[in-house]
Amino acid sequence: MYNPKSKIADEFISHEEILETLKYADENKNNIELIDSILEKARQAKGLTHREASVLLACDDEEKTKEIFELAQKIKQDFYGNRIVLFAPLYLSNYCVNGCVYCPYHAKNKHIPRKKLSQEEIKNEVIALQDMGHKRLAIESGEDPVNNPIEYILESINTIYSIKHKNGAIRRVNVNIAATTVDNYRKLHDAGIGTYILFQETYNKESYEQLHPTGPKHNYNYHTEAMDRAMEGGIDDVGLGVLFGLESYKYEFAGLLMHAEHLESVFGVGPHTISVPRIKHADDIDPDAFDNGIDDDIFAKIVACIRIAVPYTGMIISTRESAKCRERVLKLGISQISGGSKTSVGGYFNPMPEKDDSAQFDVSDRRPLDEVLKWLMELGYLPSFCTACYGSGRTGDRFMKICKSQQIHNFCQPNAIMTLKEYLEDYASPETKEVGEKLIKSEVETLLNVRSQVEENLKKIANGERNFKF
Ligand code: SAM
Repeated sequence: MYNPKSKIADEFISHEEILETLKYADENKNNIELIDSILEKARQAKGLTHREASVLLACDDEEKTKEIFELAQKIKQDFYGNRIVLFAPLYLSNYCVNGCVYCPYHAKNKHIPRKKLSQEEIKNEVIALQDMGHKRLAIESGEDPVNNPIEYILESINTIYSIKHKNGAIRRVNVNIAATTVDNYRKLHDAGIGTYILFQETYNKESYEQLHPTGPKHNYNYHTEAMDRAMEGGIDDVGLGVLFGLESYKYEFAGLLMHAEHLESVFGVGPHTISVPRIKHADDIDPDAFDNGIDDDIFAKIVACIRIAVPYTGMIISTRESAKCRERVLKLGISQISGGSKTSVGGYFNPMPEKDDSAQFDVSDRRPLDEVLKWLMELGYLPSFCTACYGSGRTGDRFMKICKSQQIHNFCQPNAIMTLKEYLEDYASPETKEVGEKLIKSEVETLLNVRSQVEENLKKIANGERNFKF
């Protein structure tokens, strides 16, 4: 029944295969010989199967667990260097017809203020985001064919790309909206979106149906097959994720990797990103009502094992997590983080008192973007606002080829340096600027053949020119 090449959800995410994987992982969690051979394979940085990775996740041998974390750090360093890409979510509308029991936007919630941004309000949000320094957004919306039809989403994307305020510009709009049709995905592709992101929430069909009792999202197969339709609609880059806390994390982990294997075997390219959200308190949602919450140690191990299993897939962590937790997982595998986020509709231009808030969930890391940047740099990371791959057509399998041959550094490192310089010139506080200039100086020294060109461009950026890229 299990068939990664099948286009049917129950066959590429086979429940039986997941149960057998979990059994195999449990039986082998102390099988040092097997674990060593999996780690040896992982050291080649060519990735692991869901079964192999599940054994590592289950392993409770202290020494081997240490090795797993060390290997994740090494792969992170080899593939991504010290770069961390920054983005912000932009909530367009919280009208929603679904009944997701963990989300305060569920249709039965009658007291949360419902809001949908007008194009004028989107303009205000985007200017506020540009004034923070953001270049990359993820748009978010509830599912409501009357209030938020695809035409509204497309018009909003168009508005976002059209706003050029001072030196600001949004150069990549990623989209996180409900599963839709091939035709609609084609429209999103034609509107120039970056990654299409859709969280599976849970790969366990039975739990999925209980957690989504009403509305179009109830249909597990339609939701799970969405990435196939997105790719058929021409979208090159798709982003997977599960909402940790809903189901057993080992089940989700195996399902997530099977989904990645499915995309790779059908389309020749795996997911562009994987997100690892954990369920949070929200308006009428109590995370303790869900039985499968995971602690920070398990969370860190999940991040490390994903990093080892799919080295070339970017990993995203949001402001759902605290600064402390983010610091820990950054070195284990995270390559993109949000900063200065608001999860309410209209929250950037018009921050609201919490009681009137339309926020989707509580954020833990509430620091402004400038502070997040300074913190990253003090930890030794190079914050990047780069969107060059997307602008230069390095998406989908073209991106993965460069990534798998580890040539991505040749583009990413200089682009990260130059976009950071833009940020420092246009938006940074004096303290952040000071830390950033020092970092740029030392980073430039590590560049090989493009060093003089980068130095030249940095001077031009200081003189007001923008948007240099490799
Ligand atoms: N409505 C679209 C959909 O159904 O996929 C867009 C997604 S929603 C705006 C973004 C994500 O937030 C959801 O996919 C879900 O995983 C997450 N989310 C919902 N409620 C949450 C909560 N209480 N805590 C943390 N994340 C939550």
